[in-house]
Amino acid sequence: MPMFSKRLNDVPESGTVAISNLVSRLKQEGIEIISFSMGEPDFDTPENIKDACIRSLKDGFTHYTPSTGIPELRKAIAERTVRENKIDCTAKNVLVTPTKQALFMIALAYLDPGDEVILPDPAWVSYEAVIKLAGAKPVYVPTRFEDNFVMTADMMAAAVTDRTKMLILNSPSNPTGSVMSREVLRGIADLCTEKNIMVLSDEIYEHIIYDGEHVSIASFEGMFDRTLTISGLSKSYAMTGWRLGWIVAPEKDISAINKLQTHSVTCCTSFTQPAAVEALRGPQDARNRMVSEFKKRRDLALDLLNDIKGVECNRPDGAFYLFPRYDHKISSDDLAMYLMKDAHVAITPGRSFGPAGEGFFRLSYATSEDNLIKGIGNIKRSLSNI
Ligand code: PMP
Ligand code: GLU
Repeated sequence: MPMFSKRLNDVPESGTVAISNLVSRLKQEGIEIISFSMGEPDFDTPENIKDACIRSLKDGFTHYTPSTGIPELRKAIAERTVRENKIDCTAKNVLVTPTKQALFMIALAYLDPGDEVILPDPAWVSYEAVIKLAGAKPVYVPTRFEDNFVMTADMMAAAVTDRTKMLILNSPSNPTGSVMSREVLRGIADLCTEKNIMVLSDEIYEHIIYDGEHVSIASFEGMFDRTLTISGLSKSYAMTGWRLGWIVAPEKDISAINKLQTHSVTCCTSFTQPAAVEALRGPQDARNRMVSEFKKRRDLALDLLNDIKGVECNRPDGAFYLFPRYDHKISSDDLAMYLMKDAHVAITPGRSFGPAGEGFFRLSYATSEDNLIKGIGNIKRSLSNI
């Protein structure tokens, strides 16, 4: 008889991964679905990175590494973070771990029952899950389509209580693609300092930005001590299957979180770590090419979506998601199922990303232009029948 913990019963399966699993199952049954569900680049990992991995395997680099990561990689991440994120740090401030694992360990390391964590709504699905798994309470701050889904300090202030322990930020955002400006981030940094709130800044889409600049909140004066910055290789270098990311934080935080690493995965996969050094220090042209390609696809998908009656979408500045509003009288969960059956297209329901996501759907345009033209055409036809 299954006797699952209350903790597990309190969280659903990841909405993004569930849709993608369903697409794989239908594919096995011979039903071709055009998938706009999973947020992962459709490009192959650049050759120089794959070659570095093959070399390390051939050299027998196949055993445990130090739990915090190999020194050369920690150093390469720190150098990159100083250069690109303007965060003053060294290798000692880096823990190498998959980005999702980083999130999980951070929730367990800092959150107790009764603690509250502020999140802009909509937000990526796994934040709410890890907050709940740690026994803490997610507190959503609804954002608006009309404001490009940006949460300001004033909006956040209304949600702060004396139990607020942490704020989670994600710019560029999954699912909306919105990018927080320096001014907005500065206001939020001041509020966090005044109210003694720590920040988890998820910057995994930091390079996938088309207009404007990426700003790391930990680069503001006084913010490094209260900020855990997480990022990784998955999106910038088309390396989702490699499971490699990191946390940048004060040394005492890295040591504390590393306790959980030693009791869980021990370390990241060994032979991928020298390849990660190559990703960070080697040529960056493949990364730049992918970003230009994403920009073209954003513009194409946006025009096609805005041409559908009853659908409206704003132009996001980053990531590879569109988050259109629709005015058909159907829940976003039902819409996803309807489009899967009727249009043979997979999208992710907006509601998976929080209450403010109802009435929206998420479309990942990390796929070919042909798929975008055909799939959005199918969506248009199906929606006209509702
Ligand atoms: N943060 C955000 C906002 C994401 O969309 C994802 C999904 N990949 C992750 C973290 C986790 O990244 P990874 O799969 O590299 O662990
Ligand atoms: N982050 C991607 C997405 O939102 C991959 C799936 C997941 O990790 O949630 O689609």
